[in-house]
Amino acid sequence: MTTLFGSDAIRAIAPYQGGKPIAEVAREFDLDVSKIIKLASNENPLGTPESARQAMLQAAADVGRYPDANGFDLKAAISAKYHVPQTWITLGNGSNDLLELAAHALVQAGQAVMYAQYSFLVYALATQAVGARAIVVPAKEYGHDLPAMLQAITPDTKLIFIANPNNPTGTFIPAPQIEAFLKAVPEHIVVVLDEAYNEFLAPECQFESTAWVKQFPNLIVTRTFSKAYGLAGVRVGFAIAQAPITDLLNRIRQPFNVNSLAQAAAIAALHDADFLQKSVQCNTAGYAQLTQAFDAMKLTYLPSHGNFVMVKVGEDEQAGARVNLALLKQGIIVRPVANYGLPQWLRISIGLPHENAAFIDALKELI
Ligand SMILES: *Cc1c(COP(=O)(O)O)cnc(C)c1O
Repeated sequence: MTTLFGSDAIRAIAPYQGGKPIAEVAREFDLDVSKIIKLASNENPLGTPESARQAMLQAAADVGRYPDANGFDLKAAISAKYHVPQTWITLGNGSNDLLELAAHALVQAGQAVMYAQYSFLVYALATQAVGARAIVVPAKEYGHDLPAMLQAITPDTKLIFIANPNNPTGTFIPAPQIEAFLKAVPEHIVVVLDEAYNEFLAPECQFESTAWVKQFPNLIVTRTFSKAYGLAGVRVGFAIAQAPITDLLNRIRQPFNVNSLAQAAAIAALHDADFLQKSVQCNTAGYAQLTQAFDAMKLTYLPSHGNFVMVKVGEDEQAGARVNLALLKQGIIVRPVANYGLPQWLRISIGLPHENAAFIDALKELI
């Protein structure tokens, strides 16, 4: 399709492909919506926390008014939980919003943005959207190769994205390595540490990355309510960075980028330790269930620190697409990752026990 409009840079962008919506699969494959199992978007299989649902019902009475553009109450809750001043917090319409804001605020056309091979696709989109050049550093064992990333820094590098744990591969970088990396990166380059899956980390992997923000004026840590907090549909995330960077992000965000229902829901979820604990437990059990089945089937998978697992479903370049289509026909939605350059693999979001079991049964038939 040729068009008179837009720049070559924008036309070169391949639109982000999310997990297929349940209703779409039902239409395409003539299936009953209630029978479909979606393990495709790393959503929380426990659904919405009841505390957040109640908070949204209350907030619904007031949606005739604009939301609080400064998100005062939500920032206060985040500030208390992570021990950072409110002037260090930026709220986003999901953390995707914040990743894009970082690129817009910090990078100009022609400059360079760095990220790892097989890391979250939104980094590539944000880079292209500002007309910047991508430095894609080859992965090491499917994860970030931080020494190689340091080596690859150019004079025009302005921004580095790191996903920890990474999506779609589930790899994890231990705290000492990140800290050494942050110390070695020149101070005029901003590092975004995208921690969308932080809450799922095993206790021995946990560390307080938000405390690093005090030490490193060029660090942005991003978190989301979409995964462990069960609020993907309302779109809310936050970034923590020192005041000068936070000021830049806030200048270019839309004034009302986080709506009132999302703000109310996020506050409730942040205080709902019980739901979070249940989510983590469900995830740990589901991970064991899936990986034990993969072991029994002698399938290769990548050990994952997130709420998903990548499994190799064949050796040929069509394997992922073929198995994905066969699963879709049975009403099971998973995520092909050929667009990440991984055509032999599928990414499976960890679901409820019966959902994982249905997927495993279907996979056994297909492989
Ligand atoms: C899911 C995800 C996000 C953010 O999702 P939002 O719903 O926009 O908050 C960010 N980074 C990674 C690596 C993710 O997988």
